[in-house]
Amino acid sequence: MASKKLQQFLQTNLEDLAQRGLLTTIDVIDGGNGPEITIDGKKLINMASNNYLGFAGRQDMIEAEINAAQTYGVGAGAVRTINGTLAVHRELEQKIAEFKGTEDAIAFQSGFNCNMGAISAVMKKGDAILSDELNHASIIDGCRLSGAKIIRVKHQDMTDLEAKAKEAVDSGLYDKIMYITDGVFSMDGDVAHIPEIVAIAERYNLITYVDDAHGSGVMGKGAGTVKHFGMQDKIDFQMGTLSKAIGVVGGYVAGSKELIAWMKSQARPFLFSTSLTPGAAAASIKAIELMQEHPEYVQQLWEKADYFKTELKKIGYDIGVSETPITPVIVGDENLAQTFSKKLIENGVYAKPIVFPTVPLGTGRVRNMPTAGHSKEMLDRAVAVYEKVGKDLGIIH
Ligand SMILES: *Cc1c(COP(=O)(O)O)cnc(C)c1O
Repeated sequence: MASKKLQQFLQTNLEDLAQRGLLTTIDVIDGGNGPEITIDGKKLINMASNNYLGFAGRQDMIEAEINAAQTYGVGAGAVRTINGTLAVHRELEQKIAEFKGTEDAIAFQSGFNCNMGAISAVMKKGDAILSDELNHASIIDGCRLSGAKIIRVKHQDMTDLEAKAKEAVDSGLYDKIMYITDGVFSMDGDVAHIPEIVAIAERYNLITYVDDAHGSGVMGKGAGTVKHFGMQDKIDFQMGTLSKAIGVVGGYVAGSKELIAWMKSQARPFLFSTSLTPGAAAASIKAIELMQEHPEYVQQLWEKADYFKTELKKIGYDIGVSETPITPVIVGDENLAQTFSKKLIENGVYAKPIVFPTVPLGTGRVRNMPTAGHSKEMLDRAVAVYEKVGKDLGIIH
């Protein structure tokens, strides 16, 4: 017999969510993810994936996954520390470290649980974390889990960072102090000011943590935002995901030998959750090799993105301050953003609305992720749809 209390809770709150338009609806894609997808039998240009390099559906990636499954099986069989560490897991970590320019790396099962595990492995009660106010949800949750004091820093505001770092140091209240930031901010596409961050961190003795989920495979010839600035020996934690440009699933931290050794004995998702599948590890290695051997893939991503952004600007859209392929089309009003997305999808472009609380109130938008896999013809078709729908809704003239 189901709990009455639970049923009451669910019924009341589901209705409330639905009334406020916040109930998640989830579309099922027929077939795989790619530059074009089919939903309910309708083919759409997909501007909503993080599959930046089109790696998720590549034949050689699929083969790497299948070969690993044939060698190692479909599952690792245990957590890494018990007996779930296979040769392919160590190979992946060594490959990540080589690519990122660090001494070592540790792989997790996802970017989200990597942030859960890595932040709390090092930061504790009695410490403080300075955190950019627009950081990803997994950073926020990881910080909360750590028990450290969380101090919000205004978005990308280096004066505010310095003032709050000074205040935290001068207070004498904290043992360790960390600054944590996205490398590339996923909703606006702006890039963390790594050189300034490093300078402030050196002045105030801060630990530095860059979550480069949207920078890996995109910035620094694929090696990420930190390497883009040549600061791989200055940032303590280069965190990233294997799920976006890499095209697979998993998360990691690249850093010093000591940091990785500490996390391998302290990070709870590493210790208490079964390791990445061998196939995912092998496909991720393949993805890094592809980026190392074929710099043109990352270059194609940037060319496609630059083209798409230029065309949207030309027809009169506000695409914000993005410095990366992430292309928000900002319309302001939350309801308008919802309608805009709905009409785009009806007309063949799959682009999703992003509204408060994911972004500040009054900055509702539809977000686009052009990828290396989009042809120029697909992007032209998408721009034509943007022009028609934007004019119909009075967003552009
Ligand atoms: C997507 C994302 C994550 C989570 O990564 P997953 O591997 O999908 O769990 C973490 N941080 C940031 C900034 C992200 O954009």
